[in-house]
Amino acid sequence: MHTAVEPVIDLAQERDEILKRYRRLLRSAKPYLKENDAKLIKKAFNTSAEAHKEMRRRSGEPYIYHPLAVAQIAVEEIGLGTTSIVAALLHDVVEDTDTTIADIERGFGKKVAQIIDGLTKISGIFEYGTSQQAENFRKMLLTLSDDVRVILIKLADRLHNMRTLDSMPRDKQLKIASETIYIYAPLAHRLGLNAVKTELEDLYLKYVEPEAYKDVARKLRESKTSRDRFINTFIKPIEDDLIASGYPYVIKGRPKSIYSIWNKLSKSKKPFEEIYDLFAVRVILKVPIEQEKAACWRAYSIVTDHYKPNPDRLKDWISTPRANGYESLHTTVMSRSGQWVEVQIRTDRMNEIAEKGYAAHWKYKGNDTRTGAGIDSWIGQVREMLEMAEQGDKTAAVEFLDDFRSNLYSEEVFVFTPKGELKVLQRGATALDFAFDIHTQIGAKCMAAKVNNVLVPLSHVLHNGDQVEVITSNKQKPNEDWLRFVVTSKAKTKIKDLIKEDNKRYITDGKELVTKRLKILRMDMTNELVNQLRAYFGSKTTSDFYYRVGKAHIDVKELNKFKAEKEAKENRALKLNTDTLQDAKAVGKELKKMHGERTDADMLLIGEDMDKIDYTLARCCNPIAGDDVFGFVTVMEGIKIHRVSCPNAVELMSNHGNRIIKAKWTSQKELAFLAGLRITGTDRIGLINDVTRVISNELHINMRSVTIDSTDGVFEGMIKLYVNNTSHLDTLMRKLESVDGVFDVVRFD
Ligand code: MN
Repeated sequence: MHTAVEPVIDLAQERDEILKRYRRLLRSAKPYLKENDAKLIKKAFNTSAEAHKEMRRRSGEPYIYHPLAVAQIAVEEIGLGTTSIVAALLHDVVEDTDTTIADIERGFGKKVAQIIDGLTKISGIFEYGTSQQAENFRKMLLTLSDDVRVILIKLADRLHNMRTLDSMPRDKQLKIASETIYIYAPLAHRLGLNAVKTELEDLYLKYVEPEAYKDVARKLRESKTSRDRFINTFIKPIEDDLIASGYPYVIKGRPKSIYSIWNKLSKSKKPFEEIYDLFAVRVILKVPIEQEKAACWRAYSIVTDHYKPNPDRLKDWISTPRANGYESLHTTVMSRSGQWVEVQIRTDRMNEIAEKGYAAHWKYKGNDTRTGAGIDSWIGQVREMLEMAEQGDKTAAVEFLDDFRSNLYSEEVFVFTPKGELKVLQRGATALDFAFDIHTQIGAKCMAAKVNNVLVPLSHVLHNGDQVEVITSNKQKPNEDWLRFVVTSKAKTKIKDLIKEDNKRYITDGKELVTKRLKILRMDMTNELVNQLRAYFGSKTTSDFYYRVGKAHIDVKELNKFKAEKEAKENRALKLNTDTLQDAKAVGKELKKMHGERTDADMLLIGEDMDKIDYTLARCCNPIAGDDVFGFVTVMEGIKIHRVSCPNAVELMSNHGNRIIKAKWTSQKELAFLAGLRITGTDRIGLINDVTRVISNELHINMRSVTIDSTDGVFEGMIKLYVNNTSHLDTLMRKLESVDGVFDVVRFD
């Protein structure tokens, strides 16, 4: 930011300029200063000027211009007071010079030191789109709970850096501008700093899409004359009546921001000439606070006396202010030349809040009880969310950032509790979001809801004015499915946490059951053994294995079978080492003698006598219980079981007929077999989700691998999964076929 520059500058003139800027700051702050404030500001200015005296900005200007400008923005554009001015003047001192936080505290007190500490902490490396950025952002918001002024000064800092972006190299410009549109503009919006937000957005466009910016700006300029003519004709009859009403007022047409017009152009794909809402007409009334509402509606009545309103476009943010504190009455009316015009009606108090946000809101709060809830409850929500994400790992931080950003931009829906208490939720919020908003436990146990006395499911989307009653049950438990339809970050985070907790409990339960069972079986619970168990039951991880036991998807009694088979295998390995395989029948008898009676779980009967003999399943065709199969006696690997439809079957049967033995399945116990399914269909959002849900909802089915291919809207999935038998597989295939968009499900080998 600061590089040494050859001293070709007139230093005396520069000193004058610095003083000039400092006096301007004092003048702007003057109306709000209490005794001693000016002294403190002067001290901060001197400290900052001294600390930065050797430094210059990249533009070559003295560095002190920057803190002075940030302080100026804080006073003039955000409406902050002495503490913030002092902090703004000193904001880069700790980071860029030898001054410490302790020095600041000694000189300016604890409050200023805390704010500067917050500012220094959040200024760390801000890599766009990384988890580091997400984590820093989270830290930055955490400081909200200490003092929201940290964020406000940070915004002033960012605004000045954006205004002076010209002297930065191109890559820095892009990085800083991207960060700005990604985080700072939404943040300004959420804090109700409309003017700051709009300027940040316009500056973003100016640097990232310079051609588009220039183009829109030029067209706005060129069309100004005709637009002004239109606006004057439009407001004339309204003005006449406003004068008659006796309310002091200001009425004007305000062009929308370049960024928002550019957004409209790119979204609608229409040329500039066809975009009509390039401006809004704003009526600002100067009335005492107790007359505000009546005056605004009176003005509304005047406007609609002359122009027909669009009934769908009436927005009353006076009776119910938006969550960022915004109050105004909006209507869209039809002009005489046939185009819709948005009219915003508000008082000068409301206008100041709309432009300056939080601080202005604060200023008025003392004498107005109606405007309380918005910002306070928002900061409360942010704090709550931050505390929930407190332990968060890196991915959690990114996830949090995404959730948070979607919350910043979304609009609200206003609903009521049965007792008539107003709740402001994000647009698209469901009954379940509402339940979680009331209390985590209410959300966790939510079964259904009554909306305006009609029973609705949890996923029901709420509308403005709905009265919502939550129905709970102690049997209810959060599940993954819920995440598909909740929209608020609060509900999302809570559900994820609850599911995690729940899973952990199943894992602990499962581990306990396994430990006990192994003790009964007198087996040592070594890592190796646990790993064998995991593989035996086809689980991907040990936790997954424990989880399935805990959830009773695996009966612990099946461990007995595992032990038996393990011992059989070990015995066989011994035996095969000493003997050579002569004849399947002999081996079979041998094996049967050895442990035939104990291996009652055997499922395949082999040979003329239909004995229970050990076997392995051929890998070429992956037979599963219920398939038509035959046994093939191999030289080295004992009996292999193939499907009759195996591609190798013909060759085996015709050339080695003497080594073929009969085989057939008996009872079908809960052993898993690997089978492959090929699913084809038309691709749509959520298809994979639906397919995997069908599969995992089928008890005892575990997927081993999934490959999905999608080209030009056609979807092909190859899924390998473990099933118990053919009828099990058939049921699954039928269910998969009935999934919307799937047209074929076939088995492959
Ligand atoms: Mn700075």
